[in-house]
Amino acid sequence: MNRDWHAAHPMPPRATWEQRVAWHREHAAACGCRRPPPDVVAELDREAASVADPPAPAGQHG
Ligand SMILES: [Zn+2]
Repeated sequence: MNRDWHAAHPMPPRATWEQRVAWHREHAAACGCRRPPPDVVAELDREAASVADPPAPAGQHG
């Protein structure tokens, strides 16, 4: 468990959905002492899929 990270990043007591997703995204990268809840995992997976779009093919000049 990354105690320094947790000390610096407390979960807000009335966190919004976006704040929770952002918190778990950073937590997974910095610590990962526990898995996020399934709904957050699904949201992070969706974001990862949208970021992983294949690059556009090079322009073709005929
Ligand atoms: Zn942790």
